Amino acid sequence: MAEPVFEKLTIIGCGLIGSSIALATRDSGAAKRIAIFDRDAAVRDAARTLGLGDIEDSADQACADTDCLIICTPVGALGDALTACAPALKAGAIVTDVGSVKGGAIAAMTSATPSQVHLIPGHPIAGTEHSGPEAGFATLFQDAWHILTPLDKSGPAYSSAVERLAAFWTRLGARVETMPADRHDRVLAITSHLPHLIAFNIVATAYDMQSVEDGDVVKYSAGGFRDFTRIAASDPIMWRDVFLSNKDAVLEALGRFSEDLAALQRAIRWGDGETLIKEFERARGIRQAIIEAGMDSAEANFGRNKPEPPETD
Ligand code: NAP
Repeated sequence: MAEPVFEKLTIIGCGLIGSSIALATRDSGAAKRIAIFDRDAAVRDAARTLGLGDIEDSADQACADTDCLIICTPVGALGDALTACAPALKAGAIVTDVGSVKGGAIAAMTSATPSQVHLIPGHPIAGTEHSGPEAGFATLFQDAWHILTPLDKSGPAYSSAVERLAAFWTRLGARVETMPADRHDRVLAITSHLPHLIAFNIVATAYDMQSVEDGDVVKYSAGGFRDFTRIAASDPIMWRDVFLSNKDAVLEALGRFSEDLAALQRAIRWGDGETLIKEFERARGIRQAIIEAGMDSAEANFGRNKPEPPETD
C-alpha cells in the first residue's frame, strides 16, 4: 500500500459522512491513525463498536497532534465544532469540512480558525438519505466529485496544503476539483438544494392529499413519487442548515424554477402540446448528458431491482 498522506487524521462529527471517511481512509491507508469525536455519546459508542478509529471523549483529545482535521457536522454547527478544536491544533495542520454550502461554511469557520493552520473548505458530492455512523460505507466517495474551495491566499505553504488535501481525497477514490465558494453555492443550489426543496414540498403536499384520497396516495405511489420520498427522507437538521446558509442562491434558483413551472402550467391550461413536447425533449437530453458523463446508470429505474411485493398472510 502507498505511504499514508497523513500521519494522523481527525474526524469531528461521526454521521454518514464522517464514518464513511473513516472507513475509506482505513481501507485506502490514506492516514496512519484516525481519531474521532462526536458530541453524542451514543454515536461515540456506535463508532467504537464499528471499529472506525480511536474514539475520543473530547474534541481537543481527538485533535492533539493531528495533521488534518475534517469537520463533518451540519453546516450550522461548524463554528462551534471548530472553536472546540482550535486550542489543540498544531501549527501547519490542515482544517477542512464537508459542508454542503461553502459560503456559509467559510463564514462560520474563518473567525474560529487559528492563524497557524490552513483552512481549506471542501464538499464531497456524494451521500445518501441515511444518517448516523451505521449508514457509512467505504466506497461512498468512489468516482464522486470532491470540490475544494480554497481561500484567496497565496504562498507555497498554503498551496502545498491544498495539494496534500487533494491527494487525500484522491486516495479515497474521489475526483477533486477546485472552484470559488460562490460558484459552488450557485451550482449546488440548482443541482442539489432545489431538488431537495421540491422533494420535501411534493411529499408534504401528497401527505396532505392522502387523507382526502383515503390512503390511496401511498398505496399507489408510482416510481416518480417514490423517488421524491427517498430524497425527502434526508436529515431535517442538515437540510435546514443548507437552506438557511445558501439562502440567496436557493431563492434565485427557486424564482427561475417557479417561472418555468408557470409556463408549463399555462401550456397545460391552453392545450399547448407543442410546448410540452419541446420542454420534455430538452429534459431528456439533459438526462442523456448525465449518463454520457458517467454520472448515472442508463438502466431503467436507475438499475434498481424491482421491490419485492409485500408479504401477505
Ligand atoms: P449526520 O449523519 O447527521 O451526522 C452529523 C453528526 O455530527 C451527528 O452525530 C451530530 O450529533 C454531530 N455533531 C453535530 N454538532 C457537533 C459538534 N459541535 N461537535 C461534534 N459533533 C457534532 O450528518 P451527515 O449526513 O454525515 O452530514 C454531515 C455534513 O456533511 C453536513 O455538513 C452536510 O451538509 C454534509 N454532506 C452531507 C451529505 C449527505 O448526503 N448526507 C452529502 C455531502 C455533504 P447530533 O446528532 O448530536 O447533532
